[in-house]
Amino acid sequence: MRLRDKLVAARIMRVIFLTLLGGVMALTGLGVGAGADRAPDSFQDARQAMVARQLQRRDITDPRVLVAMGTVPRHCFVPESLTSQAYGDHPLPIGGGQTISQPYIVALMTQWAEVAPGDKVLEVGTGSGYQAAVLAELTDQVWSIEILPELARQAAARLKDLGYGRVRVRSGDGYQGWPEAAPFDAILVTAAAPRVPPALTAQLKEGGRLVIPLGPPGGVQNLVRYRKVQGKLVEEASLPVRFVPLVHPPALKAAPFADPPEAPATSPGPGGPPR
Ligand code: SAH
Repeated sequence: MRLRDKLVAARIMRVIFLTLLGGVMALTGLGVGAGADRAPDSFQDARQAMVARQLQRRDITDPRVLVAMGTVPRHCFVPESLTSQAYGDHPLPIGGGQTISQPYIVALMTQWAEVAPGDKVLEVGTGSGYQAAVLAELTDQVWSIEILPELARQAAARLKDLGYGRVRVRSGDGYQGWPEAAPFDAILVTAAAPRVPPALTAQLKEGGRLVIPLGPPGGVQNLVRYRKVQGKLVEEASLPVRFVPLVHPPALKAAPFADPPEAPATSPGPGGPPR
């Protein structure tokens, strides 16, 4: 066989493997989340193409992450006018100046978080609720904090409608984490911070994973995966990215979980790797 034929054959085998794996996982209930038994929708093909082209062709190899990404109906998490673009290889605006990250970045963050069934996971920056739904396919212990009350309300309702009602969503300042639910096996921050918020380090279990974009707002940041080893964060992987900023309203420092009086100013960003 010529090299090109071999590559095509390998690709076909990979798609067949994933399809079979998806079927087996759905049948055996390994997909954990309530969405795993969802009836096929009209975006099924677009979603599987996204998994094959944007995730498997890059470095997403964890079968549970691939199945989760192939299960969650991403088109239900974007504004109706953008559903036709929901499975494109880019972030999309979701209102309030915020973005839903590119599928690859969601998958990479999830893979880096190494979520096992039963793990407790905290997401900071609920946004549309999409990343939370992907996490909910992997464990039934998901907590998610969103600073904009309107986005938190919409995401909670959407997650409930789609069968992900076990995800706990609240409006508040994610800089403070979610102390009552801590400690967590994994924490994912989906907005960029200049440094790791100390509360998040404190709320991570020993051996736990923290995935966070670090860097200046509006500039190029580094998505970093840390592991907590003997109480300290050890950097294990990183990738240049661009996320919307994690806002840190001073008023919320005194009353961490009060709703902000008004939507804080945030600047939109593409929420994916810099181009
Ligand atoms: N994970 C989301 C996308 C997140 S965009 C999804 O899957 O759709 C980043 C989100 O972080 C925005 O919704 C923004 O309002 C929120 N955010 C910014 N600063 C925050 C803070 N201090 N605490 C909690 N959420 C914050």
